[in-house]
Amino acid sequence: MTGPERAERRRAAIAQFNAHEDRRDGEAVVGRLDDAFAVLADLVFTRIHGDVEKHIGVDSFYNPASATKAEARAKGELNAFFACECALFAEERAYVRGGNASGEASGDGWCESWIAALLVDERDLGTPAAQRLAGYRGKSPDDRRRGFSLVLERAFPEATRAPLVIYRLLPLAIRLATALAFERADHAQAQRDRQLVLLPSILDCTTCNGAVMPSGETCAGCGNPFWKYELLTAGW
Ligand SMILES: [Zn+2]
Repeated sequence: MTGPERAERRRAAIAQFNAHEDRRDGEAVVGRLDDAFAVLADLVFTRIHGDVEKHIGVDSFYNPASATKAEARAKGELNAFFACECALFAEERAYVRGGNASGEASGDGWCESWIAALLVDERDLGTPAAQRLAGYRGKSPDDRRRGFSLVLERAFPEATRAPLVIYRLLPLAIRLATALAFERADHAQAQRDRQLVLLPSILDCTTCNGAVMPSGETCAGCGNPFWKYELLTAGW
């Protein structure tokens, strides 16, 4: 997505949010979501690509042009999964209208369409975003996670070599980013606490001490909000 396209998507998302939610802080909410998910997509892609090559010695079989295309497809899948999990969590916690506390995708679908229009570039995904999102809808969290791992590995086969804990940490990272965007630091911390159960070594970083990072920021020491290979594989 080009810079001007991204700016236009942000403008549209802000206007839709303020109108639908009858709020005036769409610019801040959309900015935090967009920044956080852009960083998360970059970090996860590094974990499934560069880190795997560096630590396992997998030779990339892509030429530069196909490598660029493979990265775009992987990020298309990541953004579709972000949109799904972000919308479900925002509805579950009633950050947006039409949500409910059942944890099921029984909202009116507005939030999912809104966030997908912001994040997902269908040219990267290679399929309509609505189609991919429909594939996740109505599934349990475990089935969504498994479904995501399959489409990601199809888009980017190197992902099969990445530490499996990635797939357990990622839905929590998406919820954490969503909570921060809607200024619920307490909900964000609760997601971090769940990540700590999966990966206690998160706390070992002396730079951030495992604290929740502000939206769109990354710890130079450990990679928080999506950790470097050495931490992901500690104890596994
Ligand atoms: Zn850190």
